[in-house]
Order: sequence, then C-alpha cells, then structure tokens
Amino acid sequence: MTQYTPMIQQYLAIKRDYPDTFLFFRLGDFYELFFEDAIKASRELEITLTGREGGGDERIPMCGVPHHSADNYIAELLKKGYKVAVCEQVEDPKAAKGVVRREVTRVITPGTMMEGKWLSDKENNYMVAVAEMEGTAGLAACDLSTGEMYVTALWGQTAAIVDEALHYRPKELILSGIDFSQEATGVPTTYVQLEAVDPSAVDRQYGEQATELNAAMRAAVNALLHYIGTTQMRSLAHLRLLKPYDAKQYLQLDPFSRRNLELTETIRDKSKKGSLLWLLDRTETAMGGRLLRRWIERPLLNQRELEQRLDAVEHLKADLILRSELRSCLHEVYDLERLAGRVSYGNANARDLTQLRLSLEMVPQLKQRLLASGSAILAKLAEQMDECEDIAVFLKGALVEDPPISVREGGLIRPGYDEYLDKLRTASREGKTWIAQLEQAEREATGIRSLKVGYNKVFGYYIEISRANLSAVPQGRYERKQTLANAERFITPELKEKEALILEAEERMVELEYQLFSKIRSEVAQHISRLQSLAEQVAAVDVLQAFATVSDERGYVRPQLVTSGECIIRDGRHPVVEAVLDRDKYVANDVEMDQQSRQILLITGPNMAGKSTYMRQVALLTIMAQIGCFVPAREARISLVDQIFTRIGAADDLVGGHSTFMVEMLETKHALQKATAQSLILLDEIGRGTSTYDGMALAQAVIEYIREKIGAKTLFSTHYHELTDLEQQIAGIVNVNARCEEREGRLLFLHKIDPGRADKSYGIHVAELAEMPAQVIERARDILRALEGDAEQRKPLVEQISFDTVWTAPPVRQAEPVAEALPSPSEPSFADSLLAELKELDLN
Ligand code: ADP
Repeated sequence: MTQYTPMIQQYLAIKRDYPDTFLFFRLGDFYELFFEDAIKASRELEITLTGREGGGDERIPMCGVPHHSADNYIAELLKKGYKVAVCEQVEDPKAAKGVVRREVTRVITPGTMMEGKWLSDKENNYMVAVAEMEGTAGLAACDLSTGEMYVTALWGQTAAIVDEALHYRPKELILSGIDFSQEATGVPTTYVQLEAVDPSAVDRQYGEQATELNAAMRAAVNALLHYIGTTQMRSLAHLRLLKPYDAKQYLQLDPFSRRNLELTETIRDKSKKGSLLWLLDRTETAMGGRLLRRWIERPLLNQRELEQRLDAVEHLKADLILRSELRSCLHEVYDLERLAGRVSYGNANARDLTQLRLSLEMVPQLKQRLLASGSAILAKLAEQMDECEDIAVFLKGALVEDPPISVREGGLIRPGYDEYLDKLRTASREGKTWIAQLEQAEREATGIRSLKVGYNKVFGYYIEISRANLSAVPQGRYERKQTLANAERFITPELKEKEALILEAEERMVELEYQLFSKIRSEVAQHISRLQSLAEQVAAVDVLQAFATVSDERGYVRPQLVTSGECIIRDGRHPVVEAVLDRDKYVANDVEMDQQSRQILLITGPNMAGKSTYMRQVALLTIMAQIGCFVPAREARISLVDQIFTRIGAADDLVGGHSTFMVEMLETKHALQKATAQSLILLDEIGRGTSTYDGMALAQAVIEYIREKIGAKTLFSTHYHELTDLEQQIAGIVNVNARCEEREGRLLFLHKIDPGRADKSYGIHVAELAEMPAQVIERARDILRALEGDAEQRKPLVEQISFDTVWTAPPVRQAEPVAEALPSPSEPSFADSLLAELKELDLN
C-alpha cells in the first residue's frame, strides 16, 4: 500500500471500513469512486470510466459525479439495492497540512432514505430487522422517515417469519442470529452480529416502553437501532413510537392471498391502479394514504373497534357538507409525519417548517368541525387531538411567510423575533438608505446632474462621473478607483465606512439567521411525539372520510357484523371489476354461506363466466368489512374471519422453480394446515394441473378434509362436473353455477350465479369464441358426444388414494358419507375406450 500517494492511502483506509458500499469520495467539486467501485459504478450508472495515477504500477480505475447532482446518482444506486457511503472533506482544504482530512458522514441505504424523489408519498419506507433468541423470532420494522417502529414476536417456521417480514415490503432486511437467503426474499440483506449490538440501546431509545418487550423483540429492535446508528450517525430522537403488536390480532393473509386478491397492487403489472387500495384511496393527505394502506394490509378482528370505524363512516357518508369541509381542510395539511421526522432528524429547512405551521393552522378548524359533527365517535377522535397551537404560534412568530429553501443565505427570520438580528437589519437598512440618498446629495454638492451611485462585486459602492464632467469633481474628497471608456469611478471615505457597516451586518445576519433557525428547529423537535400523535389522528380522519366518500359515490352499504358464522350478501359486487366496467354493466350476485348447511359452495360454469370474480368478491367484501369500510351490496351480514386463504387464477409464480401444479399444491397445503373454522378459503379449480382422475380425486379429498376437519367457509370452483354429486352425499356442500345461455348457437355469459350445478362446460363454445379452426371445433363436438355417452356408465370417485406425498391426511372417518369406489381395473375405463377410439382412426 505504501507505494500509493497519501490521498489514495487515505481512500483505501476509509474504504476498508465500508467494504459493502460504494464509497463516494469527495475531491473538490466531485465525488470520485476508485478501483472496483469505479468499475462497477461506471457500469451501473453509465458514466465514463477513467483512470488516475496514484503511485502504483498501474493507473487506478476512477469515475466521478459532480457533487451538486450526486443525489440522482445515489438514488439510482439505492434503487438497485446498493448502499452508498458519503465521504466528505471535513477540514478547509486551504488550512490543511498535507492531505485534507476526510470522513464518512453518512451511509445511505435503501431503507434509510429520508427524503427525495423515490420516497413515495403514500407508501411507507420500511426496513425490517429479525433476530432469533431461544427459538423465538423478534421482528422490528421501522420507517425512518416517519419514526414509526413496529415490533412483534413470532414462533414457528421460518416461512411464517419471512411472510411477516415481507408484509412490510421492506427496502432492506437486517438479520441477527437467523438466516434467510436474499434470493428467497429478494430484499437487500445485512447481517448484524449479535455480539456487536448494544443490548441496552432499546432502553435508551424507548425507556419505559421497552419493558413491554420480550428478549427476542428487544434483540430485533437493538439490531435495527444498531444498524441505523452506524449508517446515520446522527440523532434518532424522532424514533419515539414503539408499537408492539401480535400478528394474531389482525386478519391474517399470506403473501399469495394478498397478491391474488390484488389488495394493494395488481398481479399483472404490480401497479396500484386496479387494486383495492387504488379504489379506496380518496385520502387527501400523504399520511392518510399510508394509513389506508396499513389498514388494508391489516384488517381487524375486533368488532368493537370496527363498529366505531363504521359509525364514523356512516356519519360522514350521510353528511356531505361535513365531508367536503373536512376534505378541504385535509387538503391543506402537508405530510406532518415526515415533516416531523425531518425536523428531529435535523434536515428540515425553513419551507418544511412553514409547511408544518400551515398544516397545524388547519387543525383547529378540523377539530371544530369534528366536535360539532354530532357524531360521538368523531367528537371523541377530535377531543384527543392536540392542536399543537403553541408550535404553530411559535413558528408564525419566528419565520417569515415565504422563506427560501436555503437556510444558509438569510431571509428566514421574521422581524421582531430576535432583537439583535433586528438591530443588524436596521443598521444595514439605514446604511442602504444613506447610500440611496447619497446620489442626490452629491449631485447637489457637485452640480453634476448625471452623477450616479452604483455597486459592483469587485469594488463595492462607487460614485460614477462621466468624462465630460470630470472637471467638476471636488478635489481631495473623491478618491479615484476605476477608469472606464467614458467615465471614472470614485469612492469617498464615508461611502466606504457605510459600505463596511452594511457588509458586516449582512454577513452577521446570515450567520445569525442560520443559528436562530437551527434553534427554532430544535425547539420544535422537542415536541415531536405530540406532532406524531396528531399526525396519526389526522390520518385516521382522512381514511374514514375516504371510506365515506367512496361508499357514498359507489352506493355501498354498512355491513352488519355478526358472530353466527354466516356470510349473507344481497346483490354484492366486486368493487374493482364494477369500477372499471361501464356503469350498470356489473351483474350483482347473492352469497349465502354459513358454517353448517352452506359451508362449501361448489361453483361450476364455463370459463369466463364469472366464477373467480364471484369468489374474490366474497373475500374482498369480507376484507372491506374488516377494515371498517362499507361494502358494495344492497345488504350484507358478515361474520369476522380470522384468516383468508386463496388459491386462485393463473398468476403462478414460477420463479421458485416450482411447476404450476406444485405451486397449487403448496398453496392448498398451506390453507389446509392453517385454516380454522373461522377462516375463509377460496380454491379455484384445484387439481386441474394433473390428469383428470388424479385431479378430481384430489379436489374431492380436499373438499372432504375442509368439511370434516376444518369447517371453514369455502368457495370452490371446478370444471369437474362429477364433483357436483357431492351435494347429495355430504351435508354442508351446496352447488351454485355461473349461468350461461346459448342463443343461436352462441354463448352468452350472464355473470349470474344461480343455485344448482352447471349442466355443461361450454369449453368448446369458448374455443369457438377464440376462433379456433372450424374443423377442430366440429371434431371436438363429435368426440365430446362420444365421451358423454361413455361417462353415463362411469362412476365417480375415489376414496383410497394415497395423499401422503401432498400432506399427511388424517384417517377418513368411516361414518362419514363416502364416495363410491373407483371402477376396478377390469372394467373398461374411460381412458381405455378413448384409446380404442383413437386406434380406430386413420390418423393420416
Ligand atoms: P371465470 O373465473 O369463470 O373464468 P372470471 O371471473 O375471470 O371468469 O370472469 C371473466 C370476466 O367476466 C371478468 O374479467 C369480468 O370482466 C367479467 N365478469 C365477471 N363477473 C361479472 C359480473 N358479475 N358482472 C359483469 N361482468 C363480470
């Protein structure tokens, strides 16, 4: 290393401490990257790779970005999951002896972004830490930009822990004493050694609140604080809100189901548009938008809490005037949470503080409206609201109305706030007035009417006299300073004296304003938890009004929450499909389920008839009810469910290397293992991925298992018409079908779900719609006729198939209604007769 120049040696010494980051090394007006970093960054950022002599045998690879546009490049790297260490010059280069001292002032990572373009308003930016202790996993999730910290403990399999971690859609994972591969999560992961972590960090940060946590939760919070501490290197005072929770207090949805139901993004292009979140997002504030997302991701199980939300929505839905007044108040409220975060983080500017003040100034009005609303629940919400009026008044008195972005150039502080600043300002103003009057005075004194007083950066203030008038210049008093083509510029001692006064005052003012501003900011930072609670309450009001707004505009009704196990929906609609269809095109459908005689709905009907839309609709209405929103129906009586499982549609994730069928089996297994009688299960065409008998057998076994062992309300769509016979054999299974009609040989989808089984599959009709060659269609009809003849003699279904490879099924109880036996091998089977027919054909 000694052959390198001192600066490169310094670089290498610093880089050694930050091996897994891109080190942005400040060199004058640029940040430079060297060696491997340079090669990789030039590729990732598409910037030119150059080289530099550094004392070694070869030139050192180097690339750089101008410091003023570094943010964009850093954001680019973060987006790709990298970390960036920013290394600044920490002494004045002019004063430095030898190499300028440099230090890393901040490590920026995807999870620790506090501001900037790619922090989206209506989405939290979480990083999640997981630590394992004595068989328990602690999980802590933190959004540094808002200061929230959620923490929970989990027992059980790694998969469940990964699920919970991914629930937050973390930008980064921090693992301590536990390992899950980055490939499995797709999230940038950092490992923190348990020994490296200060075990009492959590107590220092959270005091009393920390006593609620168990060892694993403490370890997770400590690991997270350790990571934040080593990357951020500054105050974490705004991390005040520790929120311990138990995942079981919410309706649980596994990641498949969250995705399948398109709660916050669509399956196809992962966009918000087309999701439930998109439909319901009529929030006016950023924090309301984020809270809505959290509510949708964590529906409640607590009926009392839900009734309160529903009461509020009911009131707001009915009172249009109140709602529009609230909406216009909320519209004026900026992102209180993130503003508060930046204030205590010390990177809020004067505009941020002004936005904070403007937001706070809206609160009394908001509160007043809620108090006078006539709704007990809204009034209660309002009573808890601390308007933080003192902070608003303080800021109003301290800062000017419309301050500049820069906090280093003055112009921030309101006159009257600081006596000394006012004095300096007066001095500066008086000096300027004196100078302004000087022109007139000197014109009179010299008799030169074209005499001018001017200012430039090099010479300061001067008196300018044109060449023609030079003879009238008073001897002795004027001192020549600059000669131009047709004029001369002079100064006088008094002018220079005033000038010095003005400049000194201005310099001191700028410095003083900065100091005052920093003090104002720290003063506000003292009240951070008040601001954070207020932000939460405002966000809740915002989400409630959003629910009311959508419910009103789309004609939703208040769901009646019951405990009977029923789910009765009259004229229900799928909220999103309804919204994207032309008005009145949606065909409303009834749902009638319970835990006894209508536990499992077996849905038949051709493709495209609306089966999966119907199934999703049941899940979505349940979720909407359990977040406290009204539901798209004429009437709804809904029992709270503890978990929802779905196996729907063709959105098979083959990334994990699993075949479609395997994914189907895994998801089904998951449901069968976890579901309880209070759960809701949606299974779409289970078994279709394998041979007919195989699939049908599995489907029936799954249905039986759910009926016997679980008791969960289940919607099961299938193309196996044979399964509809189960309605007669097993109590609690009910057939419904998505109705279609043939008119003039064409198939008409009515999208109406009727009682009873579908009489036909219409697969060939759908093929016809897709304009398959006529010959194929004709031939298919022939074959179908032959097969249907055959099927008459065929007997359903299966009992003794071994499922051990899929899950370990408990023994089937003998007393239960049992299906008939499989045709014995000696009888000619369906496959045999098909084979016989194929052999008959002249395939040439
Ligand atoms: P299936 O699951 O039976 O193949 P889908 O549920 O996917 O059918 O529905 C197919 C299409 O029919 C949907 O994309 C939707 O546009 C439309 N559709 C479904 N249900 C309804 C309904 N109740 N009213 C109007 N259109 C519907």
